[in-house]
Amino acid sequence: MQFDYPFQVTDDALSAAVDRLPDAVLIADDSRTFVYANAAACKLLALCTADLIGKRIEDIVPGDVREHVAGQWESFLQAGVQQGPFRVLAGDGSEREVDFTAVARIRPGMHITFLRDVTAQRIAERTRMESERLAKMALSAGRMGSWVWHSETGNVSWNETMERMFGLTNEWSLDTHSRLFAGGLSDHTYESFLSAIHPDDREYVRVRLGETARFGKEYDIEYRIVRRDGEIRWIANRGQALFNSVNKRIGLLGLCWDVTEAREAESQLRLSEVRFRTLLEQSPLSTQLFGPDGRAVLVNKAWTEFWGTPAENAIGYNIFEDQQLIDHGVMPKIERAFRGEPSELPIIPYFPPGGKFKGQEIWVRAFIYPVQDDEGHVQQIVVIHEDVTTGKRLEHERLKQAEELARSNSELQRFVYVASHDLKEPLRNMGAFSQLLRQRANDRLSPDEREYLTHIADGSKRMAALIDGLLDYSRASFQRDLVLVLADVNELLRQALENLAATILQTGAAIQAGPLPTIKCAPVNVVQLFQNLIGNAIKYAGPKRPAISISANEDEKHWTFSVQDSGIGIDPKFHEQIFGVFRRLHGREYAGTGIGLAICKAIVEKHCGNIWVESEAGQGAKFFFTLPK
Ligand code: ADP
Repeated sequence: MQFDYPFQVTDDALSAAVDRLPDAVLIADDSRTFVYANAAACKLLALCTADLIGKRIEDIVPGDVREHVAGQWESFLQAGVQQGPFRVLAGDGSEREVDFTAVARIRPGMHITFLRDVTAQRIAERTRMESERLAKMALSAGRMGSWVWHSETGNVSWNETMERMFGLTNEWSLDTHSRLFAGGLSDHTYESFLSAIHPDDREYVRVRLGETARFGKEYDIEYRIVRRDGEIRWIANRGQALFNSVNKRIGLLGLCWDVTEAREAESQLRLSEVRFRTLLEQSPLSTQLFGPDGRAVLVNKAWTEFWGTPAENAIGYNIFEDQQLIDHGVMPKIERAFRGEPSELPIIPYFPPGGKFKGQEIWVRAFIYPVQDDEGHVQQIVVIHEDVTTGKRLEHERLKQAEELARSNSELQRFVYVASHDLKEPLRNMGAFSQLLRQRANDRLSPDEREYLTHIADGSKRMAALIDGLLDYSRASFQRDLVLVLADVNELLRQALENLAATILQTGAAIQAGPLPTIKCAPVNVVQLFQNLIGNAIKYAGPKRPAISISANEDEKHWTFSVQDSGIGIDPKFHEQIFGVFRRLHGREYAGTGIGLAICKAIVEKHCGNIWVESEAGQGAKFFFTLPK
């Protein structure tokens, strides 16, 4: 094949130079067939010269543009020159992006094309554009403002997010378009940027940004801005100096975001922390805080006073390792608190290993409260201690005393019972033998002697009555826990009157009662109470026919019952003593043992009530007693 070589074949120097050009050079003839290709063209198209020569232009373009290229040939020839971006198909099947310049007819029937491989450059450009697009998306998604200060012009450009953040919406809406084409940043002066900053913070910002601009450091600042609507917001701003390719500072770059809510939350947190600390420190309760691993992390002043040891001594203590707590079996409760359940530890004796109680037993009550975060995780537990040693000792003493009292009471009761039983035996003998003596020797006895025998018989009868009274009294006053039941007092009164029926009939006593309540009481005792009081009212009626009235009044906590008579009355100076055992104001003229009112008092007091009398001698008497509701 004969090549019509484009250069003077002899012009070796030129040929060699073209061959060394970094750009591809291809020469085609009128039939678009290559007749020359330099080394760069072979490299670009991954073909050797022999393979390339003889191919047509449409053979080195991708299939989708092949027709177009063939169709453009005529217009190219007419225009003479064509250039622009283009794609070529290499021999290895890969596509390359090129910038081309084609000149028609450098010699008749010869057309030259220069191709510059820009594939890498285009990829880099696209990557940069893509990453810019992503950065913009990230900025707006993260509600992040960005600004750039250009030191040469003194202008500041910022993005839409920052304009909204700074409350400059009206201004930017005017030229949204121009800003979009300027890459999302719009120009303002540095002063307009500073004027948006709160006057109190402006100088600080100016100084910090000035430092960064001068010394090229990074900066990280927070300041307030005043928005157009007057609202004050906190802004966090981070950035650095901008350098050009020869490392000259050309401005500042800033990224900013609104931290108002975060700061408020932070300050609320700080406030609640301060409040908590103050409360803790001022609290008179010994308080200790433990971390999730059981280690003590904090104690208050009351704790140091309570245990008599400095706060440092609490550090290193681990509640989970306290053998005394383990031995008392309270660990499960402590563990429960770490799972979020407040609890109260049972009162336990404790031997503090140091401090003011060292070597002493103290009784401690402890309350445990979990401290949970927003998600409900227990971060710490609070333990509040209370020294209940004094109370515990008193309780112990009280229990001991109560036990002793109960023991001596029951001994006394037994003694009274045995004694009265034993005493009644000789009394019965005395009565029986004096009667026998009277039967057998009655004729032989002088009137005086017969009277002596009568005295002996009366004395023994009276003694027996006294002993019975004593027994009744001991039963009433030593009675242990009363069994209280709801009872209608009207009914109890009816029973008492029934027991007194003979006396009432005998004396013709007039008894009148108001409505009485239903209360909780020991019914048998209340029957006896009424029986004794009404019995006395009849007995001490004097010469008149007995007239008795019974009533009840209530206040908030009690019922007050009264038994009133119109009898001989009682001198006020005896009002107290008549309630004592064997205390009587009369001799033989009124039968009695002086125990009835003592029994009444014992019964009322067993019910936690009171008993008293209001009376004047000769004026009748009114007995009152209260029973709790
Ligand atoms: P007793 O009636 O057996 O003597 P009590 O203990 O019942 O014993 O009463 C003590 C004393 O109180 C009586 O001896 C009597 O002097 C006086 N007394 C009790 N009730 C009345 C009353 N209703 N009127 C006047 N005196 C009374």
